[in-house]
Amino acid sequence: MTSELVSLAKRFHLSVLAQGKFSRSPDNLSGEQYLLEVLRAEANERERRAIAERKKQARLPTYKSFSEFDTNFQKCITREQLVTLESLEWLDQAFNLVLIGPPGTGKTHLALAVGNKAVELGYKVSFATMESIMHVLKTQEISVKSAARVRWINKCDLVIIDEVGYLPISKTEANLFFSLVSQLYEATSLLITSNKGFSGWAELLGDAVLATALLDRLTHRCQVLNFEGEGWRIANRKQIF
Ligand code: ADP
Ligand code: MG
Repeated sequence: MTSELVSLAKRFHLSVLAQGKFSRSPDNLSGEQYLLEVLRAEANERERRAIAERKKQARLPTYKSFSEFDTNFQKCITREQLVTLESLEWLDQAFNLVLIGPPGTGKTHLALAVGNKAVELGYKVSFATMESIMHVLKTQEISVKSAARVRWINKCDLVIIDEVGYLPISKTEANLFFSLVSQLYEATSLLITSNKGFSGWAELLGDAVLATALLDRLTHRCQVLNFEGEGWRIANRKQIF
């Protein structure tokens, strides 16, 4: 392959061609067919890289799937409803999803199943605990990494915030949380998991007016699921001895 071809391939970001693949067209291919093969390979490579990049950016800590979710154990959602959730049509309509319930009842599992599916289907996703997203928002002015993360969050189709309510929230954090919910309102789907029902959010946020305004936006187009039960971890406790 000529160096001019390699340099042109690089200039047009045709990575498969630049790597020297397709240096010789098989004899039985017409010029147009050959070109089609080259461009197809470039398109596939781009798609593969885009998926890898979306996966990396999503920062989903573990893989959980819908099929592993046991609706006999967690009765707050039926198999049929799970199928509707899995279709992710609600993401296109910027619906929010709030999962409320005690520890170990499968909230993070379902959030991760949604997140993984969304990445697979081409959506941009961000997963973070409340603690880590607050850190990002608080440090965006002084940290390049945090600023980049905020830019990614603002580009996302789905923003997952896990464990809202486990740790106390400062006044500054309550304001930042409100700003985030307002900013994403009607444009991006929010998926929130919490151990606290909405009635406890005024106390959690330390401000009843702010909590009302936040819940007003969050729940306008929203599905709330109340997880119940003693928790999977306790029911399936494993021991060394
Ligand atoms: P939560 O976020 O509500 O505290 P998790 O989603 O982290 O709970 O669940 C704890 C563990 O139990 C995880 O390993 C999860 O996969 C499993 N688990 C919980 N509920 C279910 C369920 N309904 N079906 C299958 N696994 C479950
Ligand atoms: Mg959890």
